[in-house]
Amino acid sequence: MADGGESAVERYKRLRAERLSGPTSWVEPAPPIAQDGLWRGLTREGEMRLLVARTSTAVRAITARLGCSDDVARVVAELATATLLVRSTLNPEAQVQLSIQNPGSAGRLLADVFPGEGGLRVSVATPGAVAAVDGPLLRDGLMQIARSRPGRDPYVSSTEFLGSGIETSMMEYLLHSEQILSFLRIDVAVQDGVATGAAGFLVQAMPEGSRADLERLVRNLDAIDPLRGAMTAEDPDARAWAGRLLDGFRWDQVAREKVAFACRCSRERVLALLAGLPREDIEDMVRREDPAETTCEFCRAVYRVATPDLRGLLSPGH
Ligand SMILES: [Zn+2]
Repeated sequence: MADGGESAVERYKRLRAERLSGPTSWVEPAPPIAQDGLWRGLTREGEMRLLVARTSTAVRAITARLGCSDDVARVVAELATATLLVRSTLNPEAQVQLSIQNPGSAGRLLADVFPGEGGLRVSVATPGAVAAVDGPLLRDGLMQIARSRPGRDPYVSSTEFLGSGIETSMMEYLLHSEQILSFLRIDVAVQDGVATGAAGFLVQAMPEGSRADLERLVRNLDAIDPLRGAMTAEDPDARAWAGRLLDGFRWDQVAREKVAFACRCSRERVLALLAGLPREDIEDMVRREDPAETTCEFCRAVYRVATPDLRGLLSPGH
């Protein structure tokens, strides 16, 4: 057209400006407050990435099974939520196992997050440890992160664990291993040895961002309220809260993931484990008619393998 109508370039610029200035879009519907979940937000220029998780139901199930002190329940719920968030920044298709070896009174901790229905489980060496009696639960040690996908060798990285905190250790890990500046905060409620509520968020400043973007984010973080209280029945995604955290940025909620406590133990796995023992050990158990008994370190399910089944492991084909 010769009448000064919009050119293709002008039209592109106009649509892009409209897209950049429109309101935040949300993935509907939001799951109800009683249901755990994780969502991702992304700024339109790619400066910031936000992950928000609610893990209340999962951490309640995990800590109730482990038989925790209040202190350990808090640590376990924090670790579960932090591992879930960190895994979602690395690779949502991968299984991530994060272990903390440290001489603190809680002992070794292991969190396992696997793909599928958002499975999450945690084990701890000394669930009954109490800081006031047994000394600090966590001390400086080693943190190992193993990422694995079916059919591939796991990728394992090790880093220093700082006894001062799980959040700090994970932020250091993400900065040094992934070269991404990250802010991680977990908020946990505990009652009678059970974590009754947990929520957490991780916000990352991507390389696309400017110094001014980062300063704005830090200002917003300084003023932000705890996340858990911002998740309500009317606003289960904490949309109002997220709007304050990313105030000044144009952004959208882009995806949701499921989260649930799940254990992968089974009688078949126990039998496979026993079959891997030295033959003389199995023969010894059979001779003494000693059933094998093992308790899952994550869900505390007890598996008992009686003598005839142990004898079966010695037969040809095993
Ligand atoms: Zn189990």
